[in-house]
Amino acid sequence: MSYTKERREELVSNLREVEAEIAAVNDKAKLVCVSKFKPASDIQALYDEGVRDFGENYVQELTDKAKELPKDIRWHFIGGLQSNKCKDLAKIENIYVVETIDSIKKARKLDEARGNSGFGKVGVYIQVNTSGEEQKSGCKPEEVVEIAKFIIDCDNLELRGLMTIGSYGASSSDGFNEEFEVLRKCSEVVTSELQLVEPLVLSMGMSGDFVQALKQGSSSVRVGSRIFGERPKK
Ligand SMILES: *Cc1c(COP(=O)(O)O)cnc(C)c1O
Repeated sequence: MSYTKERREELVSNLREVEAEIAAVNDKAKLVCVSKFKPASDIQALYDEGVRDFGENYVQELTDKAKELPKDIRWHFIGGLQSNKCKDLAKIENIYVVETIDSIKKARKLDEARGNSGFGKVGVYIQVNTSGEEQKSGCKPEEVVEIAKFIIDCDNLELRGLMTIGSYGASSSDGFNEEFEVLRKCSEVVTSELQLVEPLVLSMGMSGDFVQALKQGSSSVRVGSRIFGERPKK
C-alpha cells in the first residue's frame, strides 16, 4: 500500500490542525476520519501516523477497504443503512460501530447477522433525526428509548451512543445548533430511563460544524473533507 511522501505530509498537516481544534474544546473527544471515496493508501498513511478510527458510508467500499487494510482499524459505518445490507456489514470482523441504526428492524437484522458471523459483539449508535424533516434518516427522538431497550437485550450488539447529522440551517446566529441540543437531551433521557452506567457517546459534528458540536457536548466527531480534501461528486 504505497503513498507519496507529499500526500502523507498533506494529510498529517490537516490531521494535526483538526486535532488541535478538537483539543481546544474537549481533549477527550474522539476523532473519526471519514474516508469515503478516498483511496486505501490515504487511510494507510494516517494509520502509519497512529490513527485507528475511520468512517465509511458504503458497505461495499468498506468491505473492500477492510480486506486490504490492517485488522486493528476501528471501522465506523456512518452511511445510510438498508436492512438487507446488515448481513454484509456483520461479516467485517473489525467493524467497530454501526452508527446508523434507526429502527428495531435494522437492529434485529444486524444482531442476527453478527451472531451468524462468529465474530464478537458489534457496537451500535442509534441515529436520531433531530431536524424533524421527513426525508432525513434517523428515528424520531421519541422512539430512541424503545430502540435502545431493544438493542440492550440483543446478544450480539452493544449500545454505545447516539448519532445525528445536524443540518447547517439549524445553527442560530450565535452558532448554537438546536439539533445538537436535541441529541444531547435524548442521551439524558435514555441514560436515566435505562439506568445506564456508562455515558453514551454523542456522535455529532462534521468538517463544517465540529467545534460547535463539541461545545454542545459531542464526544465523537466525524471529519472528512477537512482532512482528506474535497471529495469527487458521486
Ligand atoms: C460524509 C460524512 C461526514 C464527513 O463530512 P465532511 O463534511 O466531509 O467532514 C460525516 N458524517 C457523515 C454521516 C457523512 O456522511
